[in-house]
Order: sequence, then C-alpha cells, then structure tokens
Amino acid sequence: MMIDLPINSPLEEIFNPLFKLKEIELFIKRDDMIHPFISGNKWRKLKYILQEAVALQKQHLVTFGGAHSNHLLATACAAAKFGFSSTGIVRGEPVDSPTIFLSKLFGMQLIFEDRESYLDKNGLFKKHFNNNPNAYFIDEGGSGSLGAKGCSELIEELPEVFDHIFCAAGTGTTAAGILSGISSKSLNSKMHVVPVLKGADFLKQDIENLVKGSFFEFHSAYHFGGYAKTNDELLRFIKDFTNSTGILIDPVYTGKLLFAIYDLISKDYFARGTRILMVHTGGTTGILGMADRFKL
Ligand SMILES: *Cc1c(COP(=O)(O)O)cnc(C)c1O
Repeated sequence: MMIDLPINSPLEEIFNPLFKLKEIELFIKRDDMIHPFISGNKWRKLKYILQEAVALQKQHLVTFGGAHSNHLLATACAAAKFGFSSTGIVRGEPVDSPTIFLSKLFGMQLIFEDRESYLDKNGLFKKHFNNNPNAYFIDEGGSGSLGAKGCSELIEELPEVFDHIFCAAGTGTTAAGILSGISSKSLNSKMHVVPVLKGADFLKQDIENLVKGSFFEFHSAYHFGGYAKTNDELLRFIKDFTNSTGILIDPVYTGKLLFAIYDLISKDYFARGTRILMVHTGGTTGILGMADRFKL
C-alpha cells in the first residue's frame, strides 16, 4: 500500500487590533487540518518513517510516548489506516487519558513502563520485540532525519515567502525539517523556534546537528515552567484566542508558541509591514486531557 495522505493545510490570516496597530500580518499554516488524529507535524514525521517500514517489510510498529502523547495517538491511527499492527510503550504508571483511550480504540497494544525503565528505549524494544522480525522501532515523537525530511515539505506548499516562520519545539525535529526546507530553497524567511520545555538549550544543538550551518532564533522564555506546565495567563490566552478565531490551540505546544508571537509583536520585535507564519502543528486532542485546568 502506498503510504500517503492528501495534504489539506490552508493558510488562514488572523485579524486582531494589536496586529493592525503594529502593522503586522499573521498567518497560520493549518497543519492541524491534515487529519484529526494523524495530526499536523505527526503525519509529516511519520510519512517517510512508515514508507521505510513498508520497504523493510515490517508489519508491526513499536513506538514510545507519555500518556498524553500526540505521537502515540497518531501512530495508533496511522497503523490502523495503513494496515500495520502497533504497540505503544507508555511512560509511567498505567493511567487513563483521552489519548490512551483513542490509541486503544485504534487497536494499539499498550505496555506501561516505569519512568526509569522508559529511559532506555532501545533496551525496551529489545526486551519486548527482540525476536520479532516484523517489529519496527519508531523513536519517541517520530524524531530523527526521516521525520525532519517529511517536515521540510511544508515549505514547498507555501504560495509566498514569509518574513518570519515560527514553530514550537519538543524534540526539534519539526523545526529542523522546516529549516532545511527554507535553506534548500534559499528563502529569505527567518526561522524562529519556541521550545516548550525548560532548560532546552540542548535542543538548539540538536537542531543544528540535523541542519548544518543553519541560522535560527531560539526563544527560550516561553516554557511556562516546563513541559505541559501552564499558568492562568496562558490558559486565559488560549481561551481568548480559541473563542475569537474558532481555531483550537493547546496548552503544551501551539498555545505557548502563539503566546510567544503575540508577546513579541506587542514588544515591537518586528518591523512594520512584517508578514509572519505560525505553523499550527496540530495535536489538539491533547487538550482534552487538560480540561480540568481551565476554569470555564
Ligand atoms: C509533537 C508536537 C510538537 C513537537 O514537535 P517536535 O518535532 O518534537 O519538535 C509540536 N506541536 C505539536 C502539536 C506536537 O504534537
């Protein structure tokens, strides 16, 4: 079977009095619309990984993630769609979450491993699948060069050159892919990376290692205390944005990213007349596991 999805990811302009005042235009690349569950950058990252699995005649996908991992769910759904079976090795104590529920519904077998064992992913793969020639290892988050290759294709879809392109970073694979897309087309767009974890300077190096000689801005002040950490200001921002645009953003990735963009605009970081692209990397089912943080 040919592993591909039609890419439905339109550009949508966001209107706001602040942008008008600062003479900024902001567009969102709606990768969240690619697929409801094989969403956003997770599809882009899986595309070449799954094609390689087929080329190697593997039938069983094995991957890793936390109980709210968008990658776990995307892999579960993609496995179901493209005729693989799948196992998800999940970090921590067995728990329920919307992501876990949906991953099971798509047929993924789940194995929970305590946080210490989880650190050794190759070891866990060996332990559970060593003698299974059908099993195919997919790293946590779909990270790595095949994942980056898929993400670079986003650049080819753009109808114009934006002054600035922003994306959130967990492993940095998506940012690296977009950067390599920019540099292979020699575009004048400046890349901006917003890490969503605390102390993420290592990510800067990881991205530089994946895309040699690249230049990008790294905005490390928008992690809100760490991965999946939130505060009232961020939650209020997400609520205001979502109910004024009809576009869902989440507290882990795209909410922090967009908060950063709004903050930089309000601090006059950009020249007047600037056109900015924010990549909506999808993953909006993740917010269902965080509903209790919003006081609505
Ligand atoms: C996984 C994820 C990211 C992080 O992507 P990396 O390639 O790991 O940096 C960003 N946004 C969303 C919505 C995600 O689900």
